[in-house]
Amino acid sequence: MLDKIIEAGVDVIRVNFSHGTPEEHIERAERVRNRARAHGRQIGVLCDLQGPKIRIEKFKSGKILLEEGATFVLDTQHDSMEGNQDRVGVAYKQLPNDLKRGDTMLLDDGRIALWVNEVSATEVICRVVSGGELSDRKGINKQGGGLSAPALTNKDREDIKTAAAMQADYLAVSFVRSADDVNEARRLLREAGGSGAIVSKIERADALDVVEEIIEASDVIMIARGDLGVEIGDAGLPPVQKHLIQLGRKMNKVVITATQMMESMIYSHIPTRAEVFDVANAVLDGTDAVMLSAETASGKYPDKAIAAMDRVCLEAEKQRVTTHSDHRIDSVFGRIDEAIAMASVYTANHLDVKAIASLTESGSTALWMSRISSGIPIFALTSHVETRRKVTLYRGVYPVSFEPVGKELHEIDQEAVDELLRRGTVRDGDLVIITKGDMMGEMGGTNSMKVVRVGDMSGKPN
Ligand code: PEP
Repeated sequence: MLDKIIEAGVDVIRVNFSHGTPEEHIERAERVRNRARAHGRQIGVLCDLQGPKIRIEKFKSGKILLEEGATFVLDTQHDSMEGNQDRVGVAYKQLPNDLKRGDTMLLDDGRIALWVNEVSATEVICRVVSGGELSDRKGINKQGGGLSAPALTNKDREDIKTAAAMQADYLAVSFVRSADDVNEARRLLREAGGSGAIVSKIERADALDVVEEIIEASDVIMIARGDLGVEIGDAGLPPVQKHLIQLGRKMNKVVITATQMMESMIYSHIPTRAEVFDVANAVLDGTDAVMLSAETASGKYPDKAIAAMDRVCLEAEKQRVTTHSDHRIDSVFGRIDEAIAMASVYTANHLDVKAIASLTESGSTALWMSRISSGIPIFALTSHVETRRKVTLYRGVYPVSFEPVGKELHEIDQEAVDELLRRGTVRDGDLVIITKGDMMGEMGGTNSMKVVRVGDMSGKPN
């Protein structure tokens, strides 16, 4: 299946630390990278921390049926294996402190709703508003947000060491509340020797109040629509998703749109029309990535789900709204390399350029370029494998292994163009933009943009 999903077009795989052991995660990441190598592909690895997902404990009988109007108690002192029709244990001891009479608790992604009637030091006594089957270890959310559990649990702190050992390209932090959570995760990852970028999962209602500072502290945001939808309500999701995609791009950050994008494909080999529209709309709004969860983790058709997403994304990317841009039209740029990136995509969009080859160390120039809507592919040419894996998440950016050190500047141009020719991206007579720095091998050194015509590199105008 791994081979099939690689062929179907996967760019990044998520390792979900909510499930499995460190040994399993390490082995899986190695397997993905080995298979990617066999296919001549780069695939990024994103490690996703479990975070403080608050859950009920277990029932003696595995599950119960809650009737509307019944009383049900969430009890922080109840035996973790002995849940029954009247009460169930909760390991999160703070729960009663975070709640008051009149609050609504949502269990199992909102399938069960409980109205809080009374709170004591150890118990939350509720009335069932929406009943149904409730089984072991289901998640608990508070409608509107406000549970105070810190974003990084002790388990997460250990898992960050595993992510570092796996050389994760991305580390996703769940239930981020503030920029401090993001900075703390970054510090712990660096201390453990990891160099991955930090993804903030936006899934708490309270995170939306400080979302700009969270985005500023992050490299990537994930619109984690599962938990976020439970906290803010499903109708709140579309405007929030659109706003976060816009904000992320404006702030030069990468955006992942996640959860239930092809949900019906857990059981079906084709998506619903609504799912096709959901994926396409996220792309039209400017997301970098669309993510699958259960569809590929436990669904029947992982390869078909990826293939469906791939074809919908490719079609949506052809639309004019995704290829034209007013991005940062009024900005003053702070850096030379940033200005070169902007000028290059502006030029490419207004001249008939077929591809951009960006010689990059860290991938920053390719990132800035990819914030501008453009249908023109950006090839990130770099000798660093970490950079090649990182750019797998950036929209419209393709990693290429390239060693510029020790070569003359004209040789570099020729080799970059030859690489695009080999890939079939350009033909003789096409225009290509190359960006690079005079000091190859130095971060942040991009200071030039060159337009060349394939087959005639002399630099003659037109
Ligand atoms: C989500 O809640 O939408 C999400 C992506 O988080 P997870 O899949 O880790 O629960």
